[in-house]
Amino acid sequence: MNKPIIKISNIRKSYGQKDTATEVLKGIDLEIYPGEFVAIMGSSGSGKSTLMHTLGLLDRPTVGSYELDGESVGKLSEDRLASLRNSKLGFVFQAYNLLAKTSALDNVALPLVYSSFSNRERMEKAKAALQAVGVGHRLKNAPSQLSGGEQQRVAIARALVNDPQIIFADEPTGNLDTKSSIEVMEIIKNLNDKGKTVILVTHEDEISEYAKRVIVIRDGEIISDKVKENNINNNGLAS
Ligand code: ADP
Ligand code: MG
Repeated sequence: MNKPIIKISNIRKSYGQKDTATEVLKGIDLEIYPGEFVAIMGSSGSGKSTLMHTLGLLDRPTVGSYELDGESVGKLSEDRLASLRNSKLGFVFQAYNLLAKTSALDNVALPLVYSSFSNRERMEKAKAALQAVGVGHRLKNAPSQLSGGEQQRVAIARALVNDPQIIFADEPTGNLDTKSSIEVMEIIKNLNDKGKTVILVTHEDEISEYAKRVIVIRDGEIISDKVKENNINNNGLAS
C-alpha cells in the first residue's frame, strides 16, 4: 500500500483566548492518499474551510500533528511553509481571488515568480496552463473583463502552473451558474483523472458527486468518511 500524502492526527483549532475560546476543529484524524478525490462536506460553519486552510498550510492548528508527503510540518518556519505551499499545493477559492487589474496571463504567471524560470519561460507556462483549461483566448484580459466561469478557469490555471501534487478547492462553484459549475467540475475531475490529488470543499450534493470519497464534518468533527463503491484508484485498490 502506498504512503499517505496527508496524514493528520488529533488536529484541534480554537479561535479566541482562554475563557472565550471556541473550538472549531475538535480532534480530526485523517489520511489522504495520492490520487484521491476527496470531498469535504458539511453545513455552513461546520469547520470545512478551517480544515482546508489547515491542510493547505494556510493556517496552523492549535493542537495536533500533520505530515505532508512524509514531512512533519508542525515546527516549520513561515518561510518554509510558504515554499512548500508554493511548490506542492494549488488553491482554488469560491471568490477566485485573482488580482483585479492584472491580465489573466500575469495572474497565472505570478506563482512562478519564486521559481528559477526565465520571464519568457514563465509566460510560456502560464499560457499553456490557460490553454489547458480552455481560456487560451483570454490571455490579455483582466478579471473584470471575464465571466465568472472564465475567472475560475484562470484561477485553476494559476493553481496548476507550478504542477502541484495536491489541488485544494473551497466551494469552487459557489459563485457560478449551473453550466459554468459543470464545466469547472469537469476540469477538476480531469485533473484527478490525470493523477492529481484533489481535496474539494462543498456543501452541495451535486458537486460532491464528482468525488470518489466523501467526508462529512459536523461541529468540527468527522461524522462520516465513505469511499464510493465502484471507485477503483490507480493501484487497483479501492481508494
Ligand atoms: P465552513 O467553511 O464549514 O462554513 P468555517 O471553517 O469557515 O466553516 O468556520 C467554522 C467556525 O469557525 C464558524 O463558526 C466560524 O465563525 C469560525 N471561524 C472561522 N474562522 C474564524 C476566525 N478567523 N476567527 C474566529 N472564528 C472563526
Ligand atoms: Mg467555508
